[in-house]
Amino acid sequence: MTMFTGLAPIQIGVAEPSTNSTSNASASGEPEHARVVIVGSGPAGLTAAIYAARANLSPVVLGGYEAGGQLMTTSEIENYPGFPDGIGGPELMGLFRTQAERFGARVLDVDVDRVDFGSRPFRLWAAGVEYRADAVIVATGASALWLGIESETRLRGHGVSACATCDGFFFRDKEIAVVGGGDTALEEALYLTRFATKVHIVHRRGSFRASKIMIARASEHPKIELHLNRTVAEVVGQDRVEAVQLSRTDEPGEETLPIGGLFIAIGHRPNGGAFREWLPSDETGYLTVDGETTESAIDGIFIAGDLHDHRYRQAITAAGEGARAAIDAERWLETAGAVSDEPATLAAVL
Ligand code: NDP
Repeated sequence: MTMFTGLAPIQIGVAEPSTNSTSNASASGEPEHARVVIVGSGPAGLTAAIYAARANLSPVVLGGYEAGGQLMTTSEIENYPGFPDGIGGPELMGLFRTQAERFGARVLDVDVDRVDFGSRPFRLWAAGVEYRADAVIVATGASALWLGIESETRLRGHGVSACATCDGFFFRDKEIAVVGGGDTALEEALYLTRFATKVHIVHRRGSFRASKIMIARASEHPKIELHLNRTVAEVVGQDRVEAVQLSRTDEPGEETLPIGGLFIAIGHRPNGGAFREWLPSDETGYLTVDGETTESAIDGIFIAGDLHDHRYRQAITAAGEGARAAIDAERWLETAGAVSDEPATLAAVL
């Protein structure tokens, strides 16, 4: 953990945000100062932007080169309230962004590569430009881990998925395979039994990493078949998943499993990036927040969405956290002058 030294007095409200941050800041070389900088442009980041913009905080969103988060690779979302006929992931994120921009949020498609949270205002660098912020909402999400084979990438959204809750419904009356041996894989397999005629769990070792109770539930389920000591060598199909080719890991051998859907459940990686140096995380790498709020260990830095939430991981829950973070940030900014010189909370992370 980086040590905090020489905390400068906070400068709430001393700078008016400019109207065009990227070009102005880059052209002049001057850092841009915003009341709130939001990092990330998935459901959490953009919802935080809507709320912060409507609170007249003129947020700047540093949204990342691959803006929009995980939903950008989700073809159809049927469980986001308000869209009874479903909506495409990119379309939904486009609407989030339009709504945020309508209220004055500026969304920039740049990656944050360095931050300095050791003095105030907080400093962030993206694409060679320095941004300064009185408050920061970090909502960089998590990324699903993938096997990394070409056929898996090609068929993502066409039968290959990393989210059973999001996509399971599409596989009604089909055989499905789930890859992984942790709690997520077994939980997703059990969930998918509601739709599938059969769920095959493919795991690379002879024993599971998951908790005993989940192993018992999965092993005893009449619709679940275990395929241990096997990896996916190939996803078979041109435009949609038709089968998986499995390789044995304990002895020579291959087999083909005809299926209609493949769920990859081999874990997620929280996108902690440059923030890890400053903000505490748990043993699995997820950043931690105050239990009651979205406050991080540093006053004025808030965390929302999958970057800290490994339990729910839904667009709607991430969006809800974005709203919470913006409200927390707004309230904190209102009272920050009174607490700015007190390093009490900061001491917790020293
Ligand atoms: P885990 O890291 O626990 O498990 C990942 C699984 O994927 C492992 O079995 C691993 O195999 C396998 N795997 C990893 N990489 C590959 C690969 N390239 N090819 C094939 N298999 C691979 O991740 P989870 O998402 O399952 O769980 C994360 C955390 O969340 C855990 O602490 C878990 O307990 C918790 N959790 C709790 C739940 C609950 O309490 N209800 C529900 C879901 C998750 P190997 O075992 O060989 O390393």
